[in-house]
Amino acid sequence: MTISTADLRAQAREHLLPHFTRRATWQDEALPVIVRGEGSHVFDDTGRRYLDGLSGLFCVNMGHGRSDIVAAAAAQMQQLAYWTNWSATHPSAVEAATLISGLGPAGLGTTFFVSSGSEAVESALKFSRQYHLSQGEGRRVKFIARDMAYHGTTMGALSVTGIDRFKDPFGPLLPGVRHFPNTGYDTLGNGESAAQLPSLQALLQIIEEEGADTIAAIIAEPVQNAGGALVPPEGYWQELRRICDRIGCLLIADEVITAFGRVGEWFGSTRFGADPDIITFAKGVTSGYAPFGGVLIRDGLVRSLMDSPKAGMFSHGTTWGGHPVSSAVTVANLTAMRDEGILHHVRDEEPRLQRGLTEIRENHACVKDWRGTGFFYVVEFTGNRHTGRELTALETASITREVLPAAMKRVNLLTRADDRGGAMLVLCPPLVADGAVLDELLLSVEAVVSAVEHYLGS
Ligand code: PLP
Repeated sequence: MTISTADLRAQAREHLLPHFTRRATWQDEALPVIVRGEGSHVFDDTGRRYLDGLSGLFCVNMGHGRSDIVAAAAAQMQQLAYWTNWSATHPSAVEAATLISGLGPAGLGTTFFVSSGSEAVESALKFSRQYHLSQGEGRRVKFIARDMAYHGTTMGALSVTGIDRFKDPFGPLLPGVRHFPNTGYDTLGNGESAAQLPSLQALLQIIEEEGADTIAAIIAEPVQNAGGALVPPEGYWQELRRICDRIGCLLIADEVITAFGRVGEWFGSTRFGADPDIITFAKGVTSGYAPFGGVLIRDGLVRSLMDSPKAGMFSHGTTWGGHPVSSAVTVANLTAMRDEGILHHVRDEEPRLQRGLTEIRENHACVKDWRGTGFFYVVEFTGNRHTGRELTALETASITREVLPAAMKRVNLLTRADDRGGAMLVLCPPLVADGAVLDELLLSVEAVVSAVEHYLGS
């Protein structure tokens, strides 16, 4: 049955429960219905063309409408649509895991596949607990994460998420989870080392309060998304590693956004000198052509768990984990990413984005600053940067819910207005966006920022 475009919105309202969407947005006659994609652009049901400023949801790294990835998926469906990773395997999961093991930081060579970022985080938490139990350290059950971090929506991943309004409707969540300040307000003074950062001092305080031998793992993103593309200060991840080694807990890098080129490396951990025990990934691993995710784990930890008489296996799994079609899509996607030199492209074009954002900041007093790296940025707004006037809560709500969405619509830009930690515009274009597309993006951002300035009357 084909639904006429006129009926689509009405039937969506009737039959489809949206994710994280306010009623007013869902009821709006202007609700976008996206029907087709091509490179860095998508088209709605009226044929209107938009620039995809968020890579779907931080995932369409290799761009829309690629026939090579589609062909790989179709060939795999024809050959073997489904087999499991429970007491068996199949070639495409093995090929995907082998490929990924060659891309990650040294020593991390074993992947456990799942179907989403939340499941990846869930699996990393469960692996950490079972690993410690298998080593006779059953007391290590607690997790420490960062304020305002988003780690997903399943109950474990939600527990380590640091955004209260997402968690409040669902308590009680996992006990023994604490949060320490993210790097948002951290700056290194002259001659100071990361160990002196207030955020890491606060982490040490939490460890002392909880008891070092009760901590299973610390989890953080290389660049934290919620709070606005928070790039870590120099030496931050090396210091996190030292702390984890000192207290004997695992270090998890949640790379659901930062893996597979977003910050110009296969993994953000590489860019920031992180040496995690576990990396979680999803999104860009398939560029959105199929749902997938995984947990890349240090080989020694896997061996210890599997060899332990207490455990003997990772007692966790899902029907879709390591799905043949998603695995084949992963291989095609990562192969294209490598063959087309996408990591170099991101690093080469990074200065163009940063120059453009700096210019926009200079032109507009309502821009507090931009932050980010690679193809991962936010523009943060303020009342007036020159006078130091901050936005009121009402202005923040109006900017993120009304001014930005309306201005983006006018210039055919699809991306996110974020109010987690300020009023922000998130910019995460597909990694295949060339110079012309990035210039188009910057022009659109200039127009959108002008709309905010006009609203504020400054
Ligand atoms: N972790 C991070 C850092 C994320 O950004 C997200 C989603 O945006 C998740 C986990 C959850 O991923 P998913 O939505 O695929 O469950």
